[in-house]
Amino acid sequence: MTGEIVDVAVIGAGLAGLTCAGQLDRAGYNTVVLEKSRGVGGRLATRRVAGTRADLGAPYLQEEGRLSSLLLRVLGNRRVLQPWTETVWQWNPDGSPQPEPPQPRYIAPSGMNAVGKFLAAGLEIWFDRRVCDVTLTKNHTWHLRLDAPRGSGDLPLELTAKAIVVAIPAPQALPLLEPLRVSELTQKVRSVEYDPGFAVIAGYAPEKSEQLAEDRPWRAIRFPHHDALSWLGLDSSKRSPSSQPIFVLHSSAEFARTNLESTDLEAVGQQLLDQAASLFLPEFATPEFLQVHRWRYAFSRQSYPQDCLTVRLSLPLVCCGDWCGLNRIETALRSGLAAASALNSQLQNRSLFSAIDLFEAIADNKLIADVYSVGRHE
Ligand SMILES: Cc1cc2nc3c(=O)[nH]c(=O)nc-3n(C[C@H](O)[C@H](O)[C@H](O)COP(=O)(O)OP(=O)(O)OC[C@H]3O[C@@H](n4cnc5c(N)ncnc54)[C@H](O)[C@@H]3O)c2cc1C
Repeated sequence: MTGEIVDVAVIGAGLAGLTCAGQLDRAGYNTVVLEKSRGVGGRLATRRVAGTRADLGAPYLQEEGRLSSLLLRVLGNRRVLQPWTETVWQWNPDGSPQPEPPQPRYIAPSGMNAVGKFLAAGLEIWFDRRVCDVTLTKNHTWHLRLDAPRGSGDLPLELTAKAIVVAIPAPQALPLLEPLRVSELTQKVRSVEYDPGFAVIAGYAPEKSEQLAEDRPWRAIRFPHHDALSWLGLDSSKRSPSSQPIFVLHSSAEFARTNLESTDLEAVGQQLLDQAASLFLPEFATPEFLQVHRWRYAFSRQSYPQDCLTVRLSLPLVCCGDWCGLNRIETALRSGLAAASALNSQLQNRSLFSAIDLFEAIADNKLIADVYSVGRHE
């Protein structure tokens, strides 16, 4: 693909980028997704641990709006997702746990990144390619310069495109957009703020299963008022048979801000486990293994009030992501579709799928020309 000019370069293979790329690709635009990590899904992240998996980012999907409901229906029908629990508990300031109103939560037994893998079907994705620089060329194209870890394959370190979608958290987009010197754009992106978070995976000896896991009324508990903790979930209950109890713990934003630059992630994770131990059982403090992930941009705290961000430039550029609204996953899906629609209207105004038809078309590996009576685009 070296030297070729693609129609659309999508930066970021999270829910927003994949939804946008899936829509444009199926409408016949030649689309390439650029992803800095080795996998898809972004903050719907799963890590392999101890011969199994654990979810490091969003722990489940639930119906938050029209798009998450449609995606749940399609993924549920295809058995990618299955019900996990109706009830998440809440830790009250007086120390008593209490169930929240019931609402079904769905998980992927193979890990929540299965949702990203589903949306990525059929797309051309360049992994291990971090976009580090975006410029407008004299030839009226976008030029993207890419960073890659050593030994990460022979994909090119640059790409030329007619249009760009920036589908990454706003603070990560800022260094790419600032050099374009479009003050309206940078001001809007700069107004978005994110909270950081830590996620800790802790695995315990199988003989502790009864004490730590089975004797508890909850599979997951939230801590809305705690200084350090925000979530504790029995992640191993998502997959059976589970040989040992594995919990995933999320920090509060405040704790993450205080410890964000720590170089000893294990010590940070241990502090969080100690907190869980003081609330529940001392055994929480002594796992068999512990893994810690730092999310610099976990949740958007101050969002942008429209579904996607477009500005008038000589070439199309659209920004999208969970920062374009309030309901994180629902917003990421809606924003990705809005970006596809906005870009399409600046390109060739082709027919696009409705959301449900898009998810079905992804599942059945179909293009728009296969489903609607529109001409194939050469
Ligand atoms: C611990 C945690 C718990 C959560 N819990 C929930 C929950 O319960 N409910 C809920 O609705 N949401 C939850 N979320 C939030 C939810 O996961 C996100 O809102 C959603 O996944 C965001 O999707 P996105 O596509 O906007 O961004 P992302 O998923 O962040 O995708 C962006 C992608 O871009 C890539 N990237 C970044 N910079 C570059 C670059 N320069 N070049 C190339 N690639 C780049 C990243 O690697 C990433 O893959 C949680 C998140 C975390 C971290």
